[in-house]
Amino acid sequence: MSEERSLNFIEEIVEEDIREGKNGGRVHTRFPPEPNGYLHIGHAKSICLNFGLAQRYNGQTNLRFDDTNPVTEDTEYVDSIKEDISWLGFKWANELYASDYFDKIYAFAQALIRKGLAYVDDSTAEEIATQKGTPTEPGKPNQYRSRSVEENLELFEAMKNGKYPDGAKVLRAKIDLASPNMHMRDPIMYRIKHAHHHRTGDKWCIYPMYDFAHGQSDAIEEITHSVCTLEFIPHRALYDWFIQELEIFPSHQYEFARLNMTYTVMSKRKLLQLVKEGHVDGWDDPRMPTISGLRRRGYTPASIREFCERIGVAKRENIIDLSLLEFCIREDLNKTAWRRMAVLDPVKLIIDNYPEGQTEVLHGENNPEVEGGEGGRDIPFSREIYIEREDFMEVAPKKFFRLGPGLMVRLKNAYIIKGESCVKDADGNITEIHCTYLPESKSGSDTSGINVKGTIHWVSVPHAKTAEVRLYDRLFKVEDPSSEEGDFKEYLNPDSLQVINAFIEPDLATAIPGKGYQFIRKGYFTLDKNSTADKLVFNRTVTLKDGWAKK
Ligand code: ATP
Ligand code: MG
Repeated sequence: MSEERSLNFIEEIVEEDIREGKNGGRVHTRFPPEPNGYLHIGHAKSICLNFGLAQRYNGQTNLRFDDTNPVTEDTEYVDSIKEDISWLGFKWANELYASDYFDKIYAFAQALIRKGLAYVDDSTAEEIATQKGTPTEPGKPNQYRSRSVEENLELFEAMKNGKYPDGAKVLRAKIDLASPNMHMRDPIMYRIKHAHHHRTGDKWCIYPMYDFAHGQSDAIEEITHSVCTLEFIPHRALYDWFIQELEIFPSHQYEFARLNMTYTVMSKRKLLQLVKEGHVDGWDDPRMPTISGLRRRGYTPASIREFCERIGVAKRENIIDLSLLEFCIREDLNKTAWRRMAVLDPVKLIIDNYPEGQTEVLHGENNPEVEGGEGGRDIPFSREIYIEREDFMEVAPKKFFRLGPGLMVRLKNAYIIKGESCVKDADGNITEIHCTYLPESKSGSDTSGINVKGTIHWVSVPHAKTAEVRLYDRLFKVEDPSSEEGDFKEYLNPDSLQVINAFIEPDLATAIPGKGYQFIRKGYFTLDKNSTADKLVFNRTVTLKDGWAKK
């Protein structure tokens, strides 16, 4: 479908650049995650955009870990990020780390000091904030701003050599304390942080700030189109200033609207809280908007790519409805999932006129959406079966095309049955249903001449296997938990997970991990990563229809 749609505004820019022969027509993008959490669906949008641009214009995409913040970063996150990008179906040209450029970035800082464009400042964070002024009031220079080049070089080296404690000094760019853009009022380039880094170990105790690492890394890698989200618009002037003053490769920054989605949160900081405080079962909990959570839930890479394609790339922020993501996975699974039968809320049904002890093997195709059905499986049938409790009504209203005394229905892949009676316990709950079947109505060789309106699913009692089935709902009760008053966690949906035990047809005991199954009439399911032969566990990916649309 990507070939049919019109160009997004970034593609238009790229095509214009190619036409003008900019960078020799070369397109080189990067995806720059900070390894401080797992990737979420918002990152998928950025991944699809960055890798998509390179694919479309015969370019390349670097995977660059933006690891300039030693305290929050970890190799666990690096590994998960790589796994998720690969799973989404993208290949990076180079795996790179901003920390690999620390020597170069340090030399860039020295170069700016030599040009009289950077100085070591001993002020505290509060003093710097006050001296910076406000958007309507210019900032004021302090006594450190006029330090000599020699003194700055010496002090900066001493900072690097560990002479000072955290926070004692910073290196700042000397730009314009009266600039209307607050980011240009002598921004901090380096801070002191005596912390162990997951790659550089204890080599460094000063670390560059985002603004003095990101554009520099882009330039080192000769990135042609550096795409980021709208919050970085005010940083662009600084991005350009550093590149110009350092006379390095002129990468350019372009901004697009980040993805926001209803009924979830998308900031890694918030997702980390949910994990740490045990509100969810880890980063890959199937209710999480993370790539790993969606994968465990049963989402396919194609469905996520399709979602990113449909939401498009815009210059203004909006909030996308979760139901669009669900629509995309439904469309995909409808085409690919294998059909199976599982009874989630069972009641026993006895076919009085079916011979006791008899079993027959019926057949059902795997996928009716595909010519030939993609093969099929055997379905054992016998006198006693389970059906869904809701499929039988003792006193049925008109247009109830399921089972009740005197009502006829087809058992999927099997026979037409007619309801006769039911047995109840002391509390009035139905414990057993009795019916008769039409032997000549077997699916595929039906000569009964009878047309019934309804078809229900079932599982043979002596052949049934059991499975734990996890039904998921929205993680939050409100559309935009981040914009509500108080702590966002107060808006968690207490009913986001329902665990039930179900009877499943025996073929599901050998379900394939990662494959989507449609439990007929019940939704799409996939094996959970913790499923074992002794204890099968299925996650519901999505219901067959949008249950919320009606409400
Ligand atoms: P978070 O706010 O969730 O911590 P982040 O921006 O700090 O996200 P990074 O690891 O820095 O996370 O992001 C890597 C890339 O993904 C960046 O280029 C960023 O702009 C992009 N990105 C992050 N969140 C979104 C989003 N919701 N929609 C689109 N792109 C995003
Ligand atoms: Mg970030």
